[in-house]
Amino acid sequence: MRLAERGIPFVVAIVAIAVGYGLSVGLDGYFVYLGMSAVVAGISLLGLGVVTGSAGMISLCQLTFGAVGAWTVSALNEAQAPGGFLTWLALGGLAAGAVGVLVGLPALRLRGINLAVVTLGLAAAADLALVQLQFPGVSAGISVERPEAFSDDRSYFQLAVVVLVLCCLVVYFLRRGRWGSAWQAVAFSERGTAAAGTSVRTSKLTAFAVSATLGGISGGLLTGQVGIAFPASFTAIQSLALYVLAIMSGAHLIDMAVFGAILWVGVPELLKRWGIPQDWGFVVFGVLGVQALASGGNLGTTVRQVWYRRSKKEPAKLDLAAGAGDVEPVSPGPPVLTVRDLSVNFGHVAALSSVDISVPEHGVLGVIGPNGAGKSTLVDAISGFLPNAEGAVELGGRPLTGSPSNRARAGLRRTFQQDRVPPGLTVGAYLKFLARRRLTADEIGDALDFFGCPAARTPLSQVDVGARRLVEVVGHLLVRPRVLLLDEPAAGLPHEEHVAFGERLRQVPARFGVSVLLIEHDLDLVRSVCDTITVLDFGRVLASGPQAEVLADPAVLKAYMGETEML
Ligand code: ADP
Ligand code: MG
Repeated sequence: MRLAERGIPFVVAIVAIAVGYGLSVGLDGYFVYLGMSAVVAGISLLGLGVVTGSAGMISLCQLTFGAVGAWTVSALNEAQAPGGFLTWLALGGLAAGAVGVLVGLPALRLRGINLAVVTLGLAAAADLALVQLQFPGVSAGISVERPEAFSDDRSYFQLAVVVLVLCCLVVYFLRRGRWGSAWQAVAFSERGTAAAGTSVRTSKLTAFAVSATLGGISGGLLTGQVGIAFPASFTAIQSLALYVLAIMSGAHLIDMAVFGAILWVGVPELLKRWGIPQDWGFVVFGVLGVQALASGGNLGTTVRQVWYRRSKKEPAKLDLAAGAGDVEPVSPGPPVLTVRDLSVNFGHVAALSSVDISVPEHGVLGVIGPNGAGKSTLVDAISGFLPNAEGAVELGGRPLTGSPSNRARAGLRRTFQQDRVPPGLTVGAYLKFLARRRLTADEIGDALDFFGCPAARTPLSQVDVGARRLVEVVGHLLVRPRVLLLDEPAAGLPHEEHVAFGERLRQVPARFGVSVLLIEHDLDLVRSVCDTITVLDFGRVLASGPQAEVLADPAVLKAYMGETEML
């Protein structure tokens, strides 16, 4: 079964090539030429799908990468460089990929509209420069030679289809691998990505590089199609229109990138037949794009969601009804995580003042305190998200410093109070992304069952938010970090599930070998799970120690006066 599933993309690829072949021999010459244009646009859209659709960054210079590919192929052709067209095409892709990394560097600091301005500015500048410089060989009238075996239009179309199919396969496997998960994660939450031990910087740069490489291949292929490259094929306004089309169709989905390419070529062609100037095509794309942005969805995702609901009906929920089984409890050992004299100020607000805590090895430390006491700030500071935090953090006797992703890799994981689980992945893909190591299907299945979470194949977009946050907990546990910090993991669950979750949590140290710091409001749950408790109030430690002592402490009772119903 699994082997058969793995073969599916290759079967689809072979069918696609066969269809391309059929079209190349069956279609009228004019349509074969249009088909070539659609294939060229498809490769470019596929690239845009990676950077905008998957990684969520605005890139308005996709055709500039195309121009880099076209330029490289033209220059190598003019110089009659060894290797021939296909080698030049690959080099064009690589050159564009390198430019993509350069363009991606500002993307590390810029977001949203600022990134849009930078990339559109680059596209406009490249546009103007190309008109002045012209492509190599153009003034001498040297046209780019197609490879000998593919010199006529029909066979060149076949070649283009094969290149497109190969690009689709590469994107398919990248999207399913670590890079693809990281793109989805970074699009949804940079903090969530860093907390998984994945570099936000690398994720963004790989997205730009892959996207630009595909853009470059597309540009090179276009040069072989038309013979001589013209600046008019790579204008900023066309880059903008292509972006809109990618957003509208949902080009991060491979079939939708191909569909978008058919629109890209088909809409202007229809307008031409109806005697309407082709520039109106941009207006059509613009209107469709505004509609897509306004509705916050795109064609591909919408179709898939409808499809999924039809086959499954309900959003996936937690199922904690089954018994948790029981493992021999282990007794807590010496401290594995120690925090000393930790202070955090936000302007004049002292969110934490000289806080000391310690999490015992194989124990569960509960951190409680009223809203605004500084609990989330404590987790942020320990996990490296607050560079202005003062104090010392030690994990397993060693100082824990550096970026959030470094700390995650050193064995400290955390979850978030807000939902930071990327909806674009399946449950299983997300677990693998968090784990940063190979997980067996059994390992994944057991852990999901233990917490009553939906099956690995379920898309996270179909999982309700309470269950999604438990999937996040499962994922971090599968990493088997030394310490896991949980920021109100069960908030929002109904009471019975809350209690059932507590039962599971109590077994976590023995089952996963992980020590836990648990922030929790429900004192019943704290009482049933935590060996030791630290109480925070106004950023200070009010009490700390074994749970029975702390919960009987008059100062704690007083601080909770307004909330006595909880005690
Ligand atoms: P808790 O998680 O215990 O409810 P928090 O750690 O979220 O509390 O907040 C502690 C205090 O720090 C609150 O007064 C809050 O308003 C303040 N605070 C938290 N984050 C920020 C921030 N990024 N900027 C300014 N103030 C903040
Ligand atoms: Mg909080």
